[in-house]
Amino acid sequence: VTIELGAGREFDLIRQLRERWGTLAVGLGDDAAVITPVRGERMVLSTDTSLEHVHFEREWLSLAEIGYRATTAALSDLAAMAATPRGVLVSVQLTPHDVPRIIELADGIADAVRAAGTVILGGNLSRGDVLGLTMTVIGGAFAPLGRHGARPGDMLYVTGALGGPAAALRALTSGETPPAAVRARFARPAARIVEARWLAARGAIACVDISDGLAADAGHLAAANDAALEIAIDRIPVFAGVGVDDALAGGEEYELLLAARAPLPHAEFAERFGVALTAIGRVAESGKDVRLMRDGKRVAAPPGHDHFSR
Ligand SMILES: [Mg+2]
Repeated sequence: VTIELGAGREFDLIRQLRERWGTLAVGLGDDAAVITPVRGERMVLSTDTSLEHVHFEREWLSLAEIGYRATTAALSDLAAMAATPRGVLVSVQLTPHDVPRIIELADGIADAVRAAGTVILGGNLSRGDVLGLTMTVIGGAFAPLGRHGARPGDMLYVTGALGGPAAALRALTSGETPPAAVRARFARPAARIVEARWLAARGAIACVDISDGLAADAGHLAAANDAALEIAIDRIPVFAGVGVDDALAGGEEYELLLAARAPLPHAEFAERFGVALTAIGRVAESGKDVRLMRDGKRVAAPPGHDHFSR
């Protein structure tokens, strides 16, 4: 743990964090973290920054929610790879305003780390003009699930119901209060870590987490596989009270978009995890774009939707 807060408060802060995190923080005393890889596992690493005024406004969320979301967003990339989290490095840039309330932020981070069944391995504290969190996540997988591997004829699935975060964000940016359930989808997303591993073990062959929006991330999957994805617009699972537009364009879902050669056990999935798994389309024979389909025919994107120009 390195600290750049200047004289005085820094060791207090570190001590506060260490005490608050308890056994969730492992080996914070040394200059660097040491992890013992599980034999045969490949390491899977990712990092993600969440910055005030760029990714969020503090008026939208509590400090705990800001910490929780930043951590979950990073962990979701491990989920997309069907990796098991092995630890998180927490780098926080604090404004003077945040220093007295660091425990709130720490509690949100802890909630997300605990939900992922992992630990905090170390990190960094520094002072800055805006609140910023950079989460580096370390995972392991015997067979990481990448974006590659989909081929024509594969089925496409999505977890959960989409559009909540986009609807919440639209309300928040226009100064309105989103409905509680919609706000919760934005403030308290889940990283589908256990779900992804379960699906990978049952035939999921390529996967991406939906951080940029279904349309955009389907585009990423199409590009990675040099293939076209056909998505049945009527099959897209839309969060209650939200439009299909938001389900297509909304980012920060942290649900998974997966391809599989054969049908995945969606009923068993739903029963086990309490989360829907919905077949939304297929990988087409030719092309390399994303196509919205209705009754087997290609349709234009819904009005107001411009994400299909890619
Ligand atoms: Mg991702």
